[in-house]
Parts: sequence; structure tokens; C-alpha cells
Amino acid sequence: MTFAHDTEMSLQAAITLVNSEDPTEDTLETLADLQRFYDEFAYTGRHDADQAELHTIRALRPRLRELLTADRDDAVELVNEMLREGKALPQLVRHEPFDWHLHAVDNQAPLATRIVVETAMAMIDVIRADEMSRLGHCADEECTGVVLDLSRNRSRRFCSTPCGNRNAVAAYRARQATAG
Ligand SMILES: [Zn+2]
Ligand SMILES: [Zn+2]
Repeated sequence: MTFAHDTEMSLQAAITLVNSEDPTEDTLETLADLQRFYDEFAYTGRHDADQAELHTIRALRPRLRELLTADRDDAVELVNEMLREGKALPQLVRHEPFDWHLHAVDNQAPLATRIVVETAMAMIDVIRADEMSRLGHCADEECTGVVLDLSRNRSRRFCSTPCGNRNAVAAYRARQATAG
């Protein structure tokens, strides 16, 4: 494991959220999409599950993208701003299904606030470990996705399996064309 479990979960969630804003297909448009996201990342606490909440979560995406793709010093500014704004107060908590981990805002704070603060908390670890290179743009030229590479050998270049497969096929065809 590269980072603590809660840090990795928060980063994955932020990446999923940012990458849902794909210009060709937005995958966070309905309350069902929001529910899927909430369940996938095992959120607990307040979940209004209404259009207002969906709107605030969708609206976070450009800001999270900016943070995840910032250079290290700019990321520091953004993290500090997000922590101040969310009035973050880190507390260790333990609840099912997780062992001790950090919460920095009350469980009844709006989901959007908790996502911003959790992402900022996760980025503290990334910045302190000087691991910003774990974050980057998808190597697919057409894709706007952000990549989180938590692999041991830092081999991840594509944001998703479809992007990886598409490029593997393209590379294979290019090799065939040269060979032929
Ligand atoms: Zn928790
Ligand atoms: Zn991609």
C-alpha cells in the first residue's frame, strides 16, 4: 500500500468524481448515478439524495480537478484553503467496515463539504510524501481523464480500462502496419 487506506479511498473517490465529467459522456447526471458513487466509496453520514445535493457534488468537479492536477506548491494553497473553508478538525474514528481512520468534518455536514475536506486531507499525505507524480493526465490523447497511479512500479498511464485497451489495440495495429 502506498498510502493509508482512507487516503487511498478518498483519492479514488475524487478521481472517480473528476472523471465522471467526461465531455463525451457525463456519468454523474442522475440521483441513481450519485447513489452508485455513494455506495461504491462506502460513504456514511448525511446523504440528502436530492437534486440539490447532486448539483453541489457535480459542481465540485472542476475544483477537485484543479487540485488533483496542480503542481505541488499550488496544491498546498488549495488544500489549505479547502481545510479552512470546511473548518476541518481531524479526529480518529472507527466505524464499520473500517478500522481507525480520519474524519475531519461532522458526519452531518453536507456531502459536498465532506468530499472536499476528505480530498484535501488525502492530498496532505500526497504532498508530504512528495508523491504528486502519482497523479497525472490520462495518456490517451483524446481523453481528459485524471490518472491515479498507486501501483508499486508506477506503471499506470491510463485513467480507465477502456482507455488502456483502446491504446493497446492502436499500438498493436501500428506494429502490424510497420511489420506488413
Ligand atoms: Zn469513516
Ligand atoms: Zn483516459
